[in-house]
Amino acid sequence: MVKAVSPSPITPFKNAFMKIMKFGGTSVGKPERMHQVAQLVTRDESEPRIVVLSALSGTTNTLVSIGDALSNGDRETARTTISKLEAHYHSFIDSLLQKQESREKARGLMAEHFEFLGVILRISFNDALSKDILAQGELMSTKLFSVYLEESGIRHELLPALEFMSIDAYEEPHVEEIRGRLMPILDRHPDVGLFVTQGYICRNARGEVDNLKRGGSDYTASLVAAAAEASVCEIWTDIDGMHNNDPRIVGKTFPIERLSFDEAAELAYFGAKILHPASIWPAQRYGIPVRLLNTMEPEAKGTWISGEAGSKGVKAIAAKDGIVEVRIKSSRMLLAYGFLRKIFEVFEKYRTPIDMITTSEVAVSLTIDNVANLDAIVRELQPFGDTEVTRGQAIVAIVGNEIAQTKDMLSRLFQAMEPVPVRMVSYGGSAHNVSLLVPEDRKAETLRLLNKGLFGLD
Ligand code: ASP
Ligand code: MG
Repeated sequence: MVKAVSPSPITPFKNAFMKIMKFGGTSVGKPERMHQVAQLVTRDESEPRIVVLSALSGTTNTLVSIGDALSNGDRETARTTISKLEAHYHSFIDSLLQKQESREKARGLMAEHFEFLGVILRISFNDALSKDILAQGELMSTKLFSVYLEESGIRHELLPALEFMSIDAYEEPHVEEIRGRLMPILDRHPDVGLFVTQGYICRNARGEVDNLKRGGSDYTASLVAAAAEASVCEIWTDIDGMHNNDPRIVGKTFPIERLSFDEAAELAYFGAKILHPASIWPAQRYGIPVRLLNTMEPEAKGTWISGEAGSKGVKAIAAKDGIVEVRIKSSRMLLAYGFLRKIFEVFEKYRTPIDMITTSEVAVSLTIDNVANLDAIVRELQPFGDTEVTRGQAIVAIVGNEIAQTKDMLSRLFQAMEPVPVRMVSYGGSAHNVSLLVPEDRKAETLRLLNKGLFGLD
């Protein structure tokens, strides 16, 4: 008798049923780029895809300036800026679309947004309204892309981000909540392979239109990737991945093939402009690899960010300026406990994150970049000791895997830094970071010296 062999159950790979592809402003900023995005999102149809789009490049800046003009009571400037923006969208439509009927459709869709901006000119301006203005960019880019897909006969569904993206009263998003709203929407379209949605925009705890802060479309992409348990979160930009140093400042740089989430988070936070720093945590917590890819060079390897670092040693240098150093000096700190707690509580009270910290027996130096409450913070620190504030500093972060244990690293680092006055050094906080505080006007020089000293590049 032949024994019936039951087929072994296929354990579906939990994450292999959805891919997120996010395209930034420059990737959709010209009609021909948008055509190319349509090609990129349809070339591999083995998985359903959610495409997250930014506003066309320049649009969010323009919307910010409209809001600024209105808040200054300058309606005339706001009006002319709106008309210029509208003209830009009209010429964009003419090159994006071929058929007369799709052009008319797109113009009609854009008209709704420009009518809304026209209404705003006539009513009294407030903060909630400014968020509504900012949301127009992503709403328009996704609609234009959708009309183009339709004209090209590409089946897709437009997902309204305002129906599933949200932040709480502290402006924090929650993956489970987003999932709870997103999944039922996706389930309504079981046979659709391509979804398009807006980056950046969301609803806040009061149900109003809000956003995830400038550059927040990356954050949308990773939150959606976490919510949909995606196989990968692809961030498409106009550079071939994260580079070992700032290409705008140093001559020679190269893309980094692999980074761990921790390394990528440090680099993004400390100034690598390619990725919004908050976009790492959802991917990391839900174990979703992030790929940084280049729209202009789709075959380039880009950067792969996952739980594994890939290699040891120094990987990259990034710098962030606009840093303020706060130094609290007190002999009462000597042998006292509870001193640091009291200092940290002041920063906590004013919701001001601390980036770097170093201590000696009689002083604490720390850095912040959010100066909104600096005066109040200094007033409350004064009773603990002499408090000194130095503005105009830059943090230079040297990031890699186990760099602290890498042979010669520190000696090469300090040798390279010899000409620059270093105000603070933070080393040992994690195995993948050494941070230096230098005057802002020495930042470029520091990046160049380290490029030579650590990578042997000019
Ligand atoms: N359009 C928004 C901005 O320019 C969000 C983004 O592009 O990530 O900040
Ligand atoms: Mg961006």
